Amino acid sequence: MKPYQMLIGGQWVDAAGGAVFDTENPFTGKAWATIPRAGPEDVDRAVAAARAAFRDPAWRGLSASARGALLRRFADLLTVHADRLAEVETRDNGKLISEMRGQLRYMPQWYYYFGGLADKVEGRVIPIDKPGVFNFTREQPLGVVAAITPWNSPLMLATWKLAPALAAGNTIVWKPSEFSSASALEFGRLFEEAGFPKGVVNIVTGFGSEIGERLVSHPHVDKVAFTGGDRTGQAVYELAARSIKPVTLELGGKSANIVFEDAKLDDAVKGVVSGIFAATGQTCIAGSRALVHRSVHDRFVEEIVAFARTARIGDPSREDTQVGPITTKPQLAKVTDYIAIAQAEGAVLALGGGRPTGEACREGWFVEPTIFTHVTPSMRIAQEEVFGPVLAIIPFDTDEEAIEIANSTIYGLAAGVWTQSITRALTMSERLDAGTVWVNTYRAVSYMSPFGGFKRSGIGRESGLSAIREYLQEKSVWIDTSGSVPNPFVQR
Ligand code: NDP
Repeated sequence: MKPYQMLIGGQWVDAAGGAVFDTENPFTGKAWATIPRAGPEDVDRAVAAARAAFRDPAWRGLSASARGALLRRFADLLTVHADRLAEVETRDNGKLISEMRGQLRYMPQWYYYFGGLADKVEGRVIPIDKPGVFNFTREQPLGVVAAITPWNSPLMLATWKLAPALAAGNTIVWKPSEFSSASALEFGRLFEEAGFPKGVVNIVTGFGSEIGERLVSHPHVDKVAFTGGDRTGQAVYELAARSIKPVTLELGGKSANIVFEDAKLDDAVKGVVSGIFAATGQTCIAGSRALVHRSVHDRFVEEIVAFARTARIGDPSREDTQVGPITTKPQLAKVTDYIAIAQAEGAVLALGGGRPTGEACREGWFVEPTIFTHVTPSMRIAQEEVFGPVLAIIPFDTDEEAIEIANSTIYGLAAGVWTQSITRALTMSERLDAGTVWVNTYRAVSYMSPFGGFKRSGIGRESGLSAIREYLQEKSVWIDTSGSVPNPFVQR
């Protein structure tokens, strides 16, 4: 068992109460490391350290260019350590090594991008309508940012918060998921090595149910950036509202992958498979509903079932594995429950539905890639986020009907459109209620392009130029240049 410590104020520490918890490998079902189980007093320590660092000239006094240079140095280190961190992630959350390596090798780009952006944030001079006054704006950091992240892409989803927040000059208290804290703690070492002043990045580990509320409601936390389930997101939002804290929320979805009759069917099959079975369906952007034009429905079902059946399930640390285990035991139970619910509601199992029986899957928390047909839009399997390898296929007859079904859930994170018609592609990109629309592709993200949700999928945007604004506040500065004090009883 590898013992980990948390990062508070530049020190590697145990929880104040000395408590730890085990973190398990989803492939073996066995514990492999111990993680500090922080309590509220640890949150207080971390917030105090972040607040002190925010006020300290060692950070506050840095020019934006110097902050950018630190981020770029961090990116260089991340490049060197990418593969090692990917291995930790795979051991801890069971996602494919090929996926985690890809993420980790790409991740430095966020720090280069936002490092480069740090000194390009400019205020404005307003040609104000009042004589004898000079008016300009400043963009200033918010202060202490609480970053709360889930287990599915632990370092990537943290990066989407940390890179812009640090570029903007904030300090961080990061609480990773209890199911994927080890990679976060390894990651923390690189901030030290890059030369970030002590206390700029703090990491507290533990259970959301024990320390989440303390962190979100802490009077010295100035902003909350959260990714996770929508129910927890709602609780975080309500809590943050009590102290009028700004939030960004990224809360998952029930994304529709829409296959039109003019689509290249082979491509659409691959795209829908990548949307739901890659990452074992454990992504917020999972294309968990396939809306298929009735004229190609049966052929599509036949082809996707044949294709998905060939997926190699097993050890996520093997390069050639295509579907790994479910990350957490509660999540395994949730996915299995949804399969039963779908069957009870009348959906027809076209593939999977059980636990794989192969030797490679004996110990781990596996579910077979599962496909349901005869799904109607109102069924729970078509409305609720499963967060597992379970696809619901729904037929449609017209473009209007496809739009109506696609937009009929409470979510609006992403959508996929498979068509050869540019007119249809453009119409869909406008009419679909989703923060991201992919046409003839799926699951593409970039540090350059904004990512976030419509409706209950969230608030705010991560990545892209606008993301840094989520971590800044605009100040208006007025300077009298007339030299005369006007009538004090009349508004100027
Ligand atoms: P949660 O939303 O509960 O967890 C996300 C993060 O929030 C974790 O760090 C968690 O800590 C923390 N947290 C939990 N409770 C609180 C609280 N009261 N205050 C502040 N932070 C809190 O996700 P789960 O892991 O429970 O997954 C539940 C469902 O959420 C999944 O089945 C899936 O549908 C969805 N989900 C969506 C994700 C997305 O990318 N949008 C990612 C993960 C899950 P801890 O881990 O210690 O509980």
